[in-house]
Amino acid sequence: MTHCVDVLVPGPWWNALTYASKRPLPVGARVRVPLGRGERLGFVAENVSSSSAPHPLREVGELLDEGNVLGEELWDLVRWMGRNFLCGRGLALQALCPKPLLRGEPVESKEGSFLSEGALEKGDAFSERTFFSPWDEDRRDFYQTQALREGRSLLLFPESALARSFFNALPADLKSQAVLWPSTGGKKLWEVWQRTRKGDFRVVVSPPGGVFAPAFFDRIIVEDEANPGYLPQRAPRISARTLAGRRAMVLGAELILGGRMPSAKTFLRSAFTSPRDSPERSSLIFVDMRRSVKPEFPGIEGELPLTISLLERTRATLKAGREVFWILDRRGEAGEVACADCGQSLLCPRCGSILRSENKGSGLRCVRCGSRHSLPSLCPSCRGAFLVGRRPGLEALASAAGRFLRGYSVRLSSEEGKINPFHKAKNSKESFLILGTRRLLALCDVQDVGLVAWLDLDAELRRLEHGARFQVFSMVWESYWRGRKKGSAEERSVLIQTRWMAGCWQNIFQQGWERFWRDELRMRKSLNIPPFAHWVQIDLAKDEEREALLDCLEHAGLFVMDPGPGGPLWLTLEPKNVALLRSLLEPRFQIKCSRLGFPVITLWTE
Ligand SMILES: [Zn+2]
Ligand SMILES: [Zn+2]
Repeated sequence: MTHCVDVLVPGPWWNALTYASKRPLPVGARVRVPLGRGERLGFVAENVSSSSAPHPLREVGELLDEGNVLGEELWDLVRWMGRNFLCGRGLALQALCPKPLLRGEPVESKEGSFLSEGALEKGDAFSERTFFSPWDEDRRDFYQTQALREGRSLLLFPESALARSFFNALPADLKSQAVLWPSTGGKKLWEVWQRTRKGDFRVVVSPPGGVFAPAFFDRIIVEDEANPGYLPQRAPRISARTLAGRRAMVLGAELILGGRMPSAKTFLRSAFTSPRDSPERSSLIFVDMRRSVKPEFPGIEGELPLTISLLERTRATLKAGREVFWILDRRGEAGEVACADCGQSLLCPRCGSILRSENKGSGLRCVRCGSRHSLPSLCPSCRGAFLVGRRPGLEALASAAGRFLRGYSVRLSSEEGKINPFHKAKNSKESFLILGTRRLLALCDVQDVGLVAWLDLDAELRRLEHGARFQVFSMVWESYWRGRKKGSAEERSVLIQTRWMAGCWQNIFQQGWERFWRDELRMRKSLNIPPFAHWVQIDLAKDEEREALLDCLEHAGLFVMDPGPGGPLWLTLEPKNVALLRSLLEPRFQIKCSRLGFPVITLWTE
């Protein structure tokens, strides 16, 4: 008698594929299956009694495991991701498994591995606690104490450099039982994954990717839990913090959320009453942009004022031998390039987003997909000959800063977050003005920064995203506290150039994040936006399907915001309607739609 099995083949589609099998197969085991003209690796999802397929089924290939290779708990996580986040289980598997596992490399079977410990029964032991302090050293000490306690601990950090420095600072006896989860894939990750699965480590210290570490943890710690770095850039876009919470719950572990400030959801769930550290009033400086010099940026329209106060404080701080950071979240020479005749912006041929100019205006780069293009000699729309940059970026700023601060050392941090600390010769008194995006703040961990200046924070507030105000608050908060030593006499100033963020923001920062979240959440509740309702972002694979999808969603009574060609669709979604949206999108996520490409969906729950 022939059976049928549903197999999950890792990929962006949502449906499982049905194959014929001579016998029922263990759920969660890997199998090779024929697909198209080739062969792929999949995971047995279910044994089904019969198939409704109109054509004869193909036969399942080689069985690679005797049982569920991921273990029951991670397998449950895959199903949970598929059910709650508008992503396929195949995509969840892709995120969760190291590449060699997906290639079919052998792994040790059930005997003696972590799978036999049967920790799933203690699910009711779950508990949650929080630890919020602006001082990095307080949090580090607290986490260390927790990791020293009995049982297995997983510690997650939003950046790999932070995980590494925490790991390096562990006391020797604890370090010998711990592992630093590799931030890149490859051989090293595969080795650590297998050893973790065997139970070789008591403590796993990790960047966000280690949230899938295969072990039964007694404790999961998430440092800087409000950090958007926990949300991956690639699909499935599910926050590692959210996944950590789910795992802790199923494992019956203790979940510890920490950071300089809580996220919206954590704030809502917990009662905070103790007094908080607040910044020195004189250290948060809001500067009105009207009192400023306006540097010329040749070939670029739009201004980036440098206030007198910024220039004076920069000089004074550098003279005192301390570092200064100027932060502007626009890389390159200009934020976009447009035709002087017809006004049309140059758009990415690949994805339709705007292109920024870089390398002194000689090249173009897409702000969305990152592809590089050469500068055309004529406007593609009207054949006009004059192309101008708009909104000066970091490169343009660096040359202006050099002109206004002659005699001081100005450095532009390298691209894509690969910031090399600017090592100074021993005893050197030289200090730098360093220009970069918000990722520059990571350097506060290793350098003595006397002044952090945000050149255009207003631009952040203009963004459409519901989290824009939180981003602004948390970035300024981090700018003030990150890397500072408790009890050190060295203050740090944060300067914000602004047109709008006057008195009320000054008060908000003074009173700290409790005040911020109270106001912010009251407003979000009245607007019914996250965390009170979900926001769904749908990045289309092809712009041609925009109309059809809009029709389908609106027909079902969902409210869709459409910013126009090239941009994603946005939906406000009551949590109870996730299943409805899922059923509407399901036909578009069948494997037979592969040739069209698949939309990328992000569910914002807070
Ligand atoms: Zn033109
Ligand atoms: Zn692009």
